[in-house]
Amino acid sequence: MTLRIFCLFILASAFITVSSFVKDQSPAIGSKKVISTVIIDPGHGGSDFGARGKYSNEKDICLAVSLKLGELISKEFPSLRVLYTRTEDTYPELHDRAKFANGNKGDLYLCIHVNAARGKRVGEIVGYKTVTYYTGKGASRKKRTKRVPQYRYTNLPSEAKGTETYIWGAHRSEDKELAVIENAPMMQEENFEQNYGNVDVNAPEFIAISLLKTKQYFKRSATLAGFIQDEFAKVGRVDRDVRQRAIGIWVLQATAMPSVLVETGFISNPEEEDYLNSQQGQEELSACIVRGLKNYLAWLEQKQQTGGVETTSATLAKTMSFLETVENRHKLSSK
Ligand SMILES: [Zn+2]
Repeated sequence: MTLRIFCLFILASAFITVSSFVKDQSPAIGSKKVISTVIIDPGHGGSDFGARGKYSNEKDICLAVSLKLGELISKEFPSLRVLYTRTEDTYPELHDRAKFANGNKGDLYLCIHVNAARGKRVGEIVGYKTVTYYTGKGASRKKRTKRVPQYRYTNLPSEAKGTETYIWGAHRSEDKELAVIENAPMMQEENFEQNYGNVDVNAPEFIAISLLKTKQYFKRSATLAGFIQDEFAKVGRVDRDVRQRAIGIWVLQATAMPSVLVETGFISNPEEEDYLNSQQGQEELSACIVRGLKNYLAWLEQKQQTGGVETTSATLAKTMSFLETVENRHKLSSK
């Protein structure tokens, strides 16, 4: 019974949110109506240097770009709350970063990184050396010599350049579901057990809702990633596209919200290392991400205003009257 009420309550909250979007026609990009909290996660930090270039480290570039990005978001969308997983040269554990994002009820997770590619190792012959060797055994043993080429190896810097934006791999969506399940807003409430009793996260109703959320987050993450890459391409960055990856992007799976990881450029390419370390480069990167975010918010708004919501409101509507009673009871009981 308690589980049933709990699930229906989630449905009710979703319906209330959905219907308030549908009713409200006033466009306000960046207002609380679409999203309210953005989490920025500068990759690496502290003893984790990330990739290393000729003269700079990934962790420092991640932080510099992230701080500029946050500043620009606040300027463009004053009503958005911007939170950072780190603002100094420290290393928060990955699960702590995810916990921070989930605990602060982030609506979006932007993870900033710098890419690196191994360059080619080329060898050239710089001379020859004579080496002695023996063949045969006993009386037929003979001493021989041969000329062996001597090489000098040089590591050529990698020519890889450009930006790519990652979303978590679709094949790993079980992990995202788990994050969604574990972070259902109600489960973060104080007195949760007291109010809702023991919730079975394996219950079909609960899993159905989590799946719905997971799909919605995937679609949103992919859309945002696409908008961001479009902006990079417009300013002439080499567009390495939106990619899915399951390794090294654990935070993307662990955050119960749409999330993207931007690999801003290649520190292994000397030209790109200069760009990544320059004021102009960092500002350009931040501005591209902000324009991508702006398009994403407009897309979300339009989707919500035209009723293109990602939930089946008809099903939800049926349970409404019953749920109002449940909700009122919940309000009374939590007083
Ligand atoms: Zn990195």
